[in-house]
Amino acid sequence: MFCLFSPTFAILWRRKFSLVFYGLDPRETLNYSIPDTVIDDIRTRSDLVEIVSETVGLKKAGNSYKGLCPFHPEKTPSFSVSADKQVYHCFGCGASGNVFRFVRETQGLSFFEAVKHLAEKAGISLPEPRNNGFENTDHNERERIRSINLQACQVFREQLKNPQQGQAARDYLQSRGFDQEALDSYEIGYAIPSWSAMMTQLEKTTKTTPAQLDQAGLVKKKDDKDEYYDRFRNRIIFPLKDPQGIIIGFAGRAIKDEDIPKYLNSPETILYKKSRYLFGLDRARSSIRKEDSTLLVEGYFDQMRATVNGITNAVAPCGTALTSQQILLLKNLSENVTLIFDSDPAGLSAALKGFELLIDHGMNVKILILPDGQDPDSYILKKGREDFLQKVNEARPFLEFHILDVISKGDATTPSGRTEIANHVLPLLAKLRNSVERAEWIKFLAERARLDENALLSEMKKNVHLQRPKMEAYKENAPSKMNPETYLIHLMLSGGQTAIEEIKSRVTLDEFLDVKMHAIAELLYKMADDGRTIRIDSILDMTDDPEVTSKITQMGLNPIQFDNIEQALVDCIGAVKRASAEGKIKNLKSLRNQAIEAGEIQQSREFQIKLKELETALRAS
Ligand SMILES: [Zn+2]
Repeated sequence: MFCLFSPTFAILWRRKFSLVFYGLDPRETLNYSIPDTVIDDIRTRSDLVEIVSETVGLKKAGNSYKGLCPFHPEKTPSFSVSADKQVYHCFGCGASGNVFRFVRETQGLSFFEAVKHLAEKAGISLPEPRNNGFENTDHNERERIRSINLQACQVFREQLKNPQQGQAARDYLQSRGFDQEALDSYEIGYAIPSWSAMMTQLEKTTKTTPAQLDQAGLVKKKDDKDEYYDRFRNRIIFPLKDPQGIIIGFAGRAIKDEDIPKYLNSPETILYKKSRYLFGLDRARSSIRKEDSTLLVEGYFDQMRATVNGITNAVAPCGTALTSQQILLLKNLSENVTLIFDSDPAGLSAALKGFELLIDHGMNVKILILPDGQDPDSYILKKGREDFLQKVNEARPFLEFHILDVISKGDATTPSGRTEIANHVLPLLAKLRNSVERAEWIKFLAERARLDENALLSEMKKNVHLQRPKMEAYKENAPSKMNPETYLIHLMLSGGQTAIEEIKSRVTLDEFLDVKMHAIAELLYKMADDGRTIRIDSILDMTDDPEVTSKITQMGLNPIQFDNIEQALVDCIGAVKRASAEGKIKNLKSLRNQAIEAGEIQQSREFQIKLKELETALRAS
């Protein structure tokens, strides 16, 4: 048994932040073109508590501050700000970050704009951005693609407005009922039917090579040839914007129905990641937060139609199956979502898949099926805003819809038909986290399918047992729930460079089995390699992963005070190595057994020898 509960640990849970481990680091090397020393200077002279106080009422609670979270609706404060660590963490929704992140999120700014904003506030003047290709390759490439996209968007818009060239596209958009104001507001454009018009134009105006335009996703390379051609031809163009409103890619819709594919998107680039993208989120963000609800529609025109009619909380995954990353983006804003998908079988099956993932993430899901196979675009155009909002108000809980749907397609008149219905619905109900809610749906199912409620309940217990929630709710972890890997990270955070060197020399990254702990350890090892002082708020600038960020700030706000760091180090390193060795042994055993079964005696012996070695080493540790 791991010795976390031995006296050496004597963890004084959530006591004062008596260890001051985060000093200033003049050598910080971030991948931004404002010198790191300047960024650090701004960081140091911007007090997070002060900045947050401008928008959130904060009260002192111990050594941190608490207030109502600006990122999710709540009645009791779960948003904490640490003055020591200069990080915030919401124990309700998991929102987390440092001063730059807070300004970015609350004011919808890019990193640079946030830095500029805070620099002005602190009275620090920014030097001209330096321009050395090496350290800032990623950043430079991002900036270059941003600027190419911006220019491309201009060209597409001009082409749409061109009296001759844009005529067909304008006619098409007009026939769908979009006026100039709507098109301007979305910066809709048109790609003329040419193989090289965009490339030629951008080469001239942006002084970029076709290869660079390829990286931006605007041109494509011919197979086996060093020649390129325009990716978008004869298509209506939607600029795709990130939540800050920066153009990261494009979607092109065919004007003629015979042109396939109907929609053609930018490929994945350094800026555009399909699985993390939701169309319209840049516009809908504040409404979703304010109304505490998201309307999830299917396509670009649905989202656009809703928005230009004043229904401002709609976003669209646009052709991709809903992903966890997309859900996390929404969950940060609201846990309530209404799916408005097409009522054809494909639409319904997409809705069901989306639903399962949404409840895995603890979201409340409703569904709205519009009559006569209409989509939000056609429905709002025909019936208007009020009628549509009325429909949204009548949206039913997804489970109600789904249960009735399964019953209507099954046969509730025979025992086997009823069992089949139950087997269909129970796994989904098992995903619900709230047991009261679950019990209510079981009752609903029992009544509608004429099933025995108690039998369902006991069947359910088996199902629930099999389910493990994929996402843990963000909770302040009790020490008993922690594993040695978590302790090791705490030790690195509190012990700084020395502790990291010690841990790094004995524990490889592979030995961190927990995905998040692995990611944090990797960042900390890198910081130590670069000779940087370990500061929680600096680590946050090294990752974009909200789950990792959230874990780091959570640990920062709940530091552990070790009374004997050396002993804790020895214990934790031992425990992590043992867990890793045990995993290897298990693996080897199964390999050995496979070899025996396959009659590979020689190989099974080799495995056996390795196994013995490992087991001996493990016993000795
Ligand atoms: Zn929150």
